[in-house]
Amino acid sequence: MLPASLNGQVAIVTGGAGGIGLGIARRLAQSGAIVALADLSLDAATRSAAVLDAEGLQAAPVAMDVADEAMVEAGVAEVVARFGRLDILVSNAGIQIVHPIEEYPFAVWKQMLAIHLDGAFLTTRASLRQMYRQGGGSVIYIGSVHSKEASRLKSAYVTAKHGLIGLAKVVAKEGAAHGVRANVVCPGFVRTPLVEKQIPEQARALGISEAEVVRNVMLRETVDGQFTTVEDVAEAVHLFASAGSSALTGQSLIVSHGWCME
Ligand code: NAD
Repeated sequence: MLPASLNGQVAIVTGGAGGIGLGIARRLAQSGAIVALADLSLDAATRSAAVLDAEGLQAAPVAMDVADEAMVEAGVAEVVARFGRLDILVSNAGIQIVHPIEEYPFAVWKQMLAIHLDGAFLTTRASLRQMYRQGGGSVIYIGSVHSKEASRLKSAYVTAKHGLIGLAKVVAKEGAAHGVRANVVCPGFVRTPLVEKQIPEQARALGISEAEVVRNVMLRETVDGQFTTVEDVAEAVHLFASAGSSALTGQSLIVSHGWCME
């Protein structure tokens, strides 16, 4: 039995219907939180909330496109109205689209920045209002090793993920007076649908086999040739969410099997 350090707390996890987001939601709920799964796909969020419910955990689906201001405002308001508070925001929703820069379509660039950066800003803004009313909260952004390093073909993603570190630092400064902390978790490659999709795309773009993409592009710099897991990422999020110290703010934590070390 895990210690129930988040009892009575309410969390929103964006992109919580699947992949890393669902793993984070499960971990926070195992620690006692009520978790809203805010996702583009309400059907998928509803199914995932039912799965958590069957595990004896407390979860609720919320329809939200994080890049849509009205949907974010409505979704956060729905969670606060239903559960009476909001203690943790995990800004996790994200996508990946790869192209070399000279061919990167402008519309795709704008879509990438909208989901990753507008989404982080809009959900933060809506959540902070409630956290400030309560006098505390924890905002956690899912960055990436690409918040620290660059890779070919990922201009929009690398730009957006670096941007999250800047946003977290500003939220840490502005939020401190209201008891709000802000931090970033930076995962290495995790085998979710987002990464499965990239393997053949990168193989085509780089003219190498899929096995070489995994071995030589994704895992070459790790200390042990291992993918990071959803559970690895969820554990780091839980650490930031449950920290009983106002000192732990404005930080980024890399969880990547040593791919990136600082
Ligand atoms: P995923 O594709 O498995 O899941 C993403 C979830 O986000 C899906 O449920 C999807 O419906 C939802 N989503 C997409 N667009 C949305 C939007 N506009 N509004 C609300 N929900 C939306 O992806 P994942 O691998 O779990 O990635 C989650 C986060 O982790 C992303 O921010 C990603 O950049 C980051 N990340 C992933 C990896 C990795 O290797 N998988 C590594 C580092 C960082």
